[in-house]
Amino acid sequence: MNIGTKVMKPFTNEYDERNSKMFEGQLVEHLTSWLTINPYKGCSLGCSYCFRVRWYPSSKPKKVHNTQEAVEALIQHPDFVPNETPLSINNSSTDCLLPEVKHSTFEAIQALDSKCLANPFVLITKLHFDEDEIRYLSQLKYLKIIIFVSLSFLPRHIEPTLNNHRIKTIKMLSHAKIPCVIYYRPIIMTLNDSDSTIKKVLTIGQRYCEAVCIGPLKMSTEISEQLNIRGINIEAYHGANNANLIAHEIESKILEVHKKYDLHVPVFKHSSCALSLILKSPNYNFLFKNPQRNCLVTCPEVQRKICQPLTSKRKMSHG
Ligand code: SF4
Repeated sequence: MNIGTKVMKPFTNEYDERNSKMFEGQLVEHLTSWLTINPYKGCSLGCSYCFRVRWYPSSKPKKVHNTQEAVEALIQHPDFVPNETPLSINNSSTDCLLPEVKHSTFEAIQALDSKCLANPFVLITKLHFDEDEIRYLSQLKYLKIIIFVSLSFLPRHIEPTLNNHRIKTIKMLSHAKIPCVIYYRPIIMTLNDSDSTIKKVLTIGQRYCEAVCIGPLKMSTEISEQLNIRGINIEAYHGANNANLIAHEIESKILEVHKKYDLHVPVFKHSSCALSLILKSPNYNFLFKNPQRNCLVTCPEVQRKICQPLTSKRKMSHG
């Protein structure tokens, strides 16, 4: 992808072992699907699978960077391409809509839009917008706002945030025609992978969203400790082989439900696929080069054609 003389490079993979120290001290983080800035760190939502659990005390988000300076650093980043590079804010260490954090999220949006930048701008949340905020987002002139709402239906002792506000947010976004993707992750065997839960998520996705992104629990030592504290037995998830098997099993269940109920909502394994679908562009991380590993049969035909003729159904994963 090319803007002027600058070419957007594919994003690299995050480290296999994710932990609280990852990216510490970096003003601009180069995550797998976007460049992100985190003026705030720390989160009060208390999810027990959070890999940033020790970064800052979780009970209260703390301001660690001036928002305007962070925006400037983002624009100056060597991998930033105007109007191209997907961006995000306050997503990997906090929730962008927490009361303490929200003003910084909207300040950055305003700053980028006022510079006439038309980059995709992703907000990831478990919280909700009010009507004025939705109206503001839908009236932006340049930035392409895309919302990822986390909706895992995990029990509240693992993920305490209530679901009903998130579902309301999804409906409001749909009404305002702001693209929205459901993050159905982490999916943990026996906790939120029943047929009825899968059907519920996919049905909401089909009715109100552009896509659903799935993902298994990514285990680390820190997450293992957090889950243990809450009395959750996660033995099965230890070891790369086990984790792969579990991911494959969960994937198969989701594809079965998708087929059984004749659903057509696009389901992806990767955020960049959902973003590419919304932007009507080939996957910017070139994931189509390895369809067996990256692509599900639930990627729509039209998108597969955009990505590459190589992504034939024959080569795609059926779970
Ligand atoms: S074809 Fe593969 S890489 Fe392209 S959007 Fe679909 S799932 Fe992603």
